[in-house]
Amino acid sequence: MTGHVLKHLGETKLELGPLAGREGNWRVGRDATGVLWLALDKVDSSINTITGDVLRELETHMAAAEANLPRAVVLRSAKSGGFAAGADITSFDRMSDEGAAELLAQGHAVLDRLEKLACPTVCVVHGAALGAGFELALACDARIAVPGASFGFPEVKLGLHPGLGGTFRLPALIDPTEAMTMMLTGKTAHTDRALSLGIVGEVVEERHVAAAVHALIENGIERHEPGLKARALGFEQARTMMARQMRSRTEEKAPAEHYPAPHALIELWEEHGNDHDTMQRGEITSFANLLKTPSSKNLRRVFSLRQKLKDTARGEDGVEHVHVIGAGAMGADIAAVAAIKGKTVTLSDLAMDTLGRAVKQAERICHDKHLSPAETRDVLDRLMPDPRGYGIARADLVIEAASEQVEVKEKIYADLGGRMKPDAILAINTSSLALDRLAKAAPNPSQFAGLHFFNPVARIDLVEVIRSRGTNSDTLTRLAAFCGAIGKLPVMLSDYPGFVVNRILTPYMLEAMMLMDEGVPKEVIDSAALRFGMPMGPVALADQVGLDVGLKVAESLHERLEAPMPAISNDLREKVAAGNLGRKTGRGFYDWSEGTPQVQTDGRAAPDLTDRLILPMLNAAVEVLRQDVAVDADAIDAAMIFATGWAPFRGGPLHYTRTRGTKAVTERLRELAEAHGPRFAPDDGWHGFS
Ligand code: NAD
Repeated sequence: MTGHVLKHLGETKLELGPLAGREGNWRVGRDATGVLWLALDKVDSSINTITGDVLRELETHMAAAEANLPRAVVLRSAKSGGFAAGADITSFDRMSDEGAAELLAQGHAVLDRLEKLACPTVCVVHGAALGAGFELALACDARIAVPGASFGFPEVKLGLHPGLGGTFRLPALIDPTEAMTMMLTGKTAHTDRALSLGIVGEVVEERHVAAAVHALIENGIERHEPGLKARALGFEQARTMMARQMRSRTEEKAPAEHYPAPHALIELWEEHGNDHDTMQRGEITSFANLLKTPSSKNLRRVFSLRQKLKDTARGEDGVEHVHVIGAGAMGADIAAVAAIKGKTVTLSDLAMDTLGRAVKQAERICHDKHLSPAETRDVLDRLMPDPRGYGIARADLVIEAASEQVEVKEKIYADLGGRMKPDAILAINTSSLALDRLAKAAPNPSQFAGLHFFNPVARIDLVEVIRSRGTNSDTLTRLAAFCGAIGKLPVMLSDYPGFVVNRILTPYMLEAMMLMDEGVPKEVIDSAALRFGMPMGPVALADQVGLDVGLKVAESLHERLEAPMPAISNDLREKVAAGNLGRKTGRGFYDWSEGTPQVQTDGRAAPDLTDRLILPMLNAAVEVLRQDVAVDADAIDAAMIFATGWAPFRGGPLHYTRTRGTKAVTERLRELAEAHGPRFAPDDGWHGFS
């Protein structure tokens, strides 16, 4: 269209209408046909978030539009990255308890005004429209998506549900059960799915946006009529039946006791799902209540912990080429993840068949990540089996993930001398070996560090980045940036037996085995941990990690730590000797041959069972804090949450400790020590912990 502003963004030119210029967070202009274009372009930010200012300014534009009605209003984003990422989460903390409902009501009034505007309103979405961004789009009469657009309500992950009209506008637009599923799970609908669900009416390439908008206005936007299912769910009885199903499914994944938000949403919908106005009032009250729950506060804390780790991972890694040594369980996955994120990867192993399996594994990971066949081909092109290790000479980073034996690793390092580029980094993916000893064998100790990935690498976000005594700071910064570049969250640590995660987790798993020796059924033990909020019980977790891997770590901690640890059970040793290693061999403590064993959470737990499992983790967390292994308590909490899924609604082990009370925890530890032995004795670190 002539006279329109086309914002050049690399290859893409966003159609922004005849935008006269910036007015606060919006770019505004009317085109020759009388259509008002409003493009959100949040000041001083690369992404759009929906803030109080954004909404207040939109209200001014609505008032102006009411006074001088345009032919239509087009709402979109002027940012290349996408439509809007939702509300500014840090603002939730600032909303005062009393003020929240009032602030929400003001926001609702703006969106109601947009919805009621006496001219057609069209929202054009490219990239993500999440949370409040999605709600803005829902208040328009029609939505057009550009390929790649996605829509979602991630609020539930923050212990909330939509708060700006999503709870009633989405169920009114699409199949209400699909709408509820989206809100209850936080899952995103990508372009095709959004089209098939009816969230958007059409998908058009960016260059056709202006024409599509004008055609839509010209032809008139059809009023949306509720489908048969929506009409049926207008009846309370039908909703009650549906709500019962939703409740039991939700309870399995997110028990009401720990995650009240999805349950509050189901209740809201069941009670008011047929009445726009009461639903709106209910949404505001419920959202304001949820903001105050410990669960939401802790889940928002988890969000900020993630941001903190992401901040550590910014910057240039200077890594184009990665060489991975050892293509076993870990090496193959590390290589695949790096190749998926665009790195050139060479992969060596002593065994040729292992390299073949690694390529197949990379294909599987691409499939799990929904990569297209063309994208998968590109990944496999970047991932080169290299049995002779020619890639070592070209690599900017060599990751050693060979078998867990000092002699094997020392031999590999001796062989690397003179072959690596002078500025290349050597990183070791050990779980249990001391870095300082291995540093002596490394070609250049100042460019040597630990890079501890977790199994399965493709699914676990955390990576422990460990400095040994001689590691220089540039190496650590580059390794953190490398983690960021491959989509991982680095936590920066110093060398310590088990680093942070294995140090804290091992007593949990060993204590579970001691309990089994005492005759407590494994299901009862696991169920106690699940009820506390762990994603997996300690016995199932030991099987999942691999009993051989766990045994090695346990032996290493027994050898290297001063603190007393639970004894290693004979049962564990026997299982490892017999080759029953857990999930990977189909049998460990559980039978995995038919898939993940199901543990019910209603077992009969002995009264002190949960404390026997959980408190040693808190004790170990205080120990690693005292030993300065991590920069602060938040880093330890983050490591446990992002590596193990440690009860996120509790905010991490050390945060939980503060909530429960340091005095209460140490007293309980003393009681347990008296009853069960010195392994429970409170660590010295409790004196300085607050
Ligand atoms: P694995 O036994 O599955 O794989 C090790 C691979 O290294 C084998 O394929 C072996 O052929 C190869 N290898 C041995 N010597 C070699 C050499 N000289 N040159 C090239 N390749 C050689 O072991 P894994 O579980 O992948 O563990 C690898 C490393 O990662 C270990 O240090 C382990 O402690 C660590 N780790 C393992 C896990 C886990 O859960 N499995 C988790 C974190 C870290």
